Amino acid sequence: MVVLFNCALTIANAADINSMTLEQARQRVPEREIPKFWVGDVTSLEKRFEKLTVGRVETIATSPGGRPIHLVTYGRREKLEQKANFNSAIGAREPQAYMDKAARKRPVILFVGPVHGAEVEALTGLVNFINVMETGKDLRGRNQRKLRVLGRRCRLLIIPAGNPDGVARFEPRSLCGMEGIDLRFWGQGTWSDDTFCGWPQSKRQHPMVGDNVGFLGCYFNDKGINPMHDEFFDPMGPEAPAILKVAKEEGPDLAVSFHSHESKPAILRPAFVTTEIQEDIRSLAERYYALLGEHDLPFSGLFKVEPEGGKYPKPFNLTSALYHISGASSFTFECPHGLKDGCQVNFEQILDIQLLLYEEMLRYEIEKKKL
Ligand SMILES: [Zn+2]
Repeated sequence: MVVLFNCALTIANAADINSMTLEQARQRVPEREIPKFWVGDVTSLEKRFEKLTVGRVETIATSPGGRPIHLVTYGRREKLEQKANFNSAIGAREPQAYMDKAARKRPVILFVGPVHGAEVEALTGLVNFINVMETGKDLRGRNQRKLRVLGRRCRLLIIPAGNPDGVARFEPRSLCGMEGIDLRFWGQGTWSDDTFCGWPQSKRQHPMVGDNVGFLGCYFNDKGINPMHDEFFDPMGPEAPAILKVAKEEGPDLAVSFHSHESKPAILRPAFVTTEIQEDIRSLAERYYALLGEHDLPFSGLFKVEPEGGKYPKPFNLTSALYHISGASSFTFECPHGLKDGCQVNFEQILDIQLLLYEEMLRYEIEKKKL
């Protein structure tokens, strides 16, 4: 497109660019055909969820921008006696005082959709998953019977969008075929002089409010809170507490916080959890990466089980908090955006990367119940 190359920022000098205006960012969105199975905004969610016949939907919080945060559930809830909160039960050396999870027949799995608004790959994945649970098919019309059979053997807790304000601010709806600098603009935003906030520097100001903020990145809700780094002991935004409340009440066996990045699909080492939980997630990663390999899809190297520490220790983030409130094996998943200067995958492959992860998570937990 001629118009595209008239734009001040072209591919040749992209690496040197450290600033962008909203107007420039909008001009850089390529003319692409975004497939119908892709879900890159939150406006359609309410309508979609009204039509559910198998799953149940509820609103667990409202964002500062007035947008609902939905929880969609499948499978009966098995009530367990709760005598203590998780950390007191651990203090008692009786985790079952929080919940005797082994007494449940079905695994309980929590899927936390993007808390970073530009990372819509899992929003697409989870809405497709919901369609699979409803009809047996994904939104491409492809048969996903195997996934549905596995899903029916679990209790599924699906929060399709963990930060709807951030998703609503994400105008391109997908970064597929775009570049790292587009991710920097839409993901973390800019300072008032139009320079990129960048990663991880965007985290040095929180909430992201004030005169020095330019374009508010999609990391943040409308009040500048990044739910991944909320103050879990004294919450600043409504999203993270609502997500954690679901975890506390349901006691999932496995929980995932979905993100996206420039490189290959990666299950990250969960920080500030026990080494046993790290080992458990590492085994899941091993199986998932093998499954991706079978489908000719890319995957990262396995993380190392490690104690916390070092000059720059990992933060205690939403994934850590999910463990500490519910005892769940919790992890962060990073999906490729399909950037042209990153891991190059297309829309279809991104959906497969998502659905295969869900499949492996379900299978992994169902197999544990048989032991
Ligand atoms: Zn993220």
